[in-house]
Amino acid sequence: MAEDKKFLPMSDPRNRHFRVVFNYTPGTTPQQGPVILQTDQADNLPAFDFSGSAIRLLPDAPATRLFDVGQCIYCGATKYDPLSDAPLSEEHVVPEALGARLILGRASCKDCQERITIFEGNILGSLLRPARRQLNMRGKKRRRGVEEYPIYVFEESTSTSGEYVKMSLADHPSIMMLPVMEPPGLYHNPPKSTSNIVSAFCMVLNDYSKALSKGFRSFSPCVLDTVYFCQFLAKICHGLAVAAYGLDGFVPLLTEYIRADFRTELWTDRHRFIGGDPRKLASTRDVLHIAEPILSVFPDRSDKRSYLLMRLRLFASYGAPLYDVVVGYFTPEQIAKVQVLDTTLLYTPDKTLAPSPLDGATARPLPSGPTDPSSRGDAAPTGL
Ligand SMILES: [Zn+2]
Repeated sequence: MAEDKKFLPMSDPRNRHFRVVFNYTPGTTPQQGPVILQTDQADNLPAFDFSGSAIRLLPDAPATRLFDVGQCIYCGATKYDPLSDAPLSEEHVVPEALGARLILGRASCKDCQERITIFEGNILGSLLRPARRQLNMRGKKRRRGVEEYPIYVFEESTSTSGEYVKMSLADHPSIMMLPVMEPPGLYHNPPKSTSNIVSAFCMVLNDYSKALSKGFRSFSPCVLDTVYFCQFLAKICHGLAVAAYGLDGFVPLLTEYIRADFRTELWTDRHRFIGGDPRKLASTRDVLHIAEPILSVFPDRSDKRSYLLMRLRLFASYGAPLYDVVVGYFTPEQIAKVQVLDTTLLYTPDKTLAPSPLDGATARPLPSGPTDPSSRGDAAPTGL
């Protein structure tokens, strides 16, 4: 870990922030609909469908309250605030602002909530805010009045400087931008921890004519903070793993990382456990977001750990990319209780993905909840 710090200096914008710039030549028609920018190497790869023991989040599904954890799932605290007797807060596994309501009861403390707000606010309130609005996904807090959205406009298509201007939602050229990532560093041999973001998935959500009519030919609607984005993925995937196996059902690896404040702390090693699948994937029909736990082992390595890989596809119905997050591992005692990980997927040591054993015809309802029935609530997990 210590060695990585020199390769990933804090606040180095070349490593931490990404911006996609759109250039238009006068006289041409801007492309409409999904515009997917990916690397050439991904072009010939097959489409990939989820199924198996997937956790499916449907748009507008009713809130699903899974069970009370009784402990903060990030730090283990049993009180919301050490100074009060308030109960632990419920935790939205996938943020409500992404149109999903999957809830763990009594699962987070005040300190962790404040820490999570730092990166979640950046991703939901900045990177994805225009996209959420265009898709009509709103969180609890609604702002009054006309909202304005920034875009960065370059002076010339070749220049690197420009200025921020604000536009109304109707005029704003809103783009959903998500990073496309290679598999987590753990799956490289030898493991690596340098940047594995290879390109960006960009989906145009409205028409550009208003921006073009103002004379903007070169602009960037959003900036991706890769550090916050990886924390955001880690937080969701950790929550999904707790929902599927219980807090005692696996050994978490990412809780410290989720709790870190990367405004001030050195950000290191985010790519060891967090990455993705750079292949173009088929859109799902009805499922908005989808996740799938995978048991991941390395038969050729001395590391015999049974890692728990959570595959997460936010905005799967829009064809968005897939993320792979190693949320933890199972001890031999823990794995003896796990019955649902029969869709084993192995990464080969040269980091290529093994053929997918997943088949759309064999969807199963599991997993849901920890194996100990006494720690489970009564609510049926209807959203799974
Ligand atoms: Zn906590």
